[in-house]
Amino acid sequence: MGAYRADDDYDYLFKVVLIGDSGVGKSNLLSRFTRNEFSLESKSTIGVEYRAITSAYYRGAVGALLVYDVTRHVTFENVERWLKELRDHTDANIVIMLVGNKADLRHLRAVQTEDAKAFAERENTFFMETSALESLNVENAFTEVLTQIYRVVSRKAL
Ligand code: GDP
Repeated sequence: MGAYRADDDYDYLFKVVLIGDSGVGKSNLLSRFTRNEFSLESKSTIGVEYRAITSAYYRGAVGALLVYDVTRHVTFENVERWLKELRDHTDANIVIMLVGNKADLRHLRAVQTEDAKAFAERENTFFMETSALESLNVENAFTEVLTQIYRVVSRKAL
């Protein structure tokens, strides 16, 4: 992900990874952010929850969006394992945004905002609730990660 000029030349290029259980909305968050598109079709098999990814995926990442689904508590419980895997494979000052997606499904909510917020504070990550469907906070989540990465990078350059 980068901040690019009109000629597609990059000022900065940062690697940001999107992780979390399957079905939480990672693909739709990305397509909402990059193309302003949303798809109701699910390619995911619910049941395959936590799954280890290869270290190549993490290599060089300076930012991460760790996504859970606010309507499926198990996806929030698995955040701890994702976080451990992420921290095992990346630099200590990686910028991490905990993202509670599907905030539009208010009647189905299973993870309280306060619980996630407290978890994020304990773990020293940023936190936001989003809806890829309603386009709520999606851009904010991505740009906040980029802003914080930029902060870390410019601190290092001093
Ligand atoms: P991924 O496996 O994490 O990449 O998840 P997907 O992006 O494939 O989304 C899984 C399912 O959740 C799909 O049926 C999406 O339409 C749905 N979904 C994704 N984001 C949202 C959201 O913000 N709100 C609602 N209501 N559904 C969503």
